[in-house]
Amino acid sequence: MTDVHTYADLITAEIDGDIAEGALPARVRTFGELHDYVDANDYLIAAQVPYDGTPATIDVVVAVQDEVTRRLSGPGRPYCTYGACTYPRHDHTTSIGADGEDLQAPVPMRCRHCQQPSHYDEKLHRYRHDDPSAADCFLIHEPNPPS
Ligand SMILES: [Zn+2]
Ligand SMILES: [Zn+2]
Repeated sequence: MTDVHTYADLITAEIDGDIAEGALPARVRTFGELHDYVDANDYLIAAQVPYDGTPATIDVVVAVQDEVTRRLSGPGRPYCTYGACTYPRHDHTTSIGADGEDLQAPVPMRCRHCQQPSHYDEKLHRYRHDDPSAADCFLIHEPNPPS
């Protein structure tokens, strides 16, 4: 009998592999966020989490998703930043200087409002602070987390 933690181990290892290969950004912090980049249900299928539509299997799927979210959102979990990003659709640099001037060479991007390290996520079409636990600012708002 495989338990929730074993499924979560398998899925988290798979997610880490995908981050290393550039299929996912290291910034993902919830199971739900995975859907922004890939079909997250594939992780459940690959780990052979049982699912037949019955309430008992739905409970297991939800518990596994919650456990994966708990691991992805752990305080020690690394996130991507300039020089340490594997995701090709993140741009952690900017060619615009502090006074709006064009720079000769791109530099690490900082939020133009609060100065925190930031990036542009081409998949999500939005700017984000690198640190997922950083407070939102005037320029950068995270969407409400799914309830
Ligand atoms: Zn990145
Ligand atoms: Zn900011």
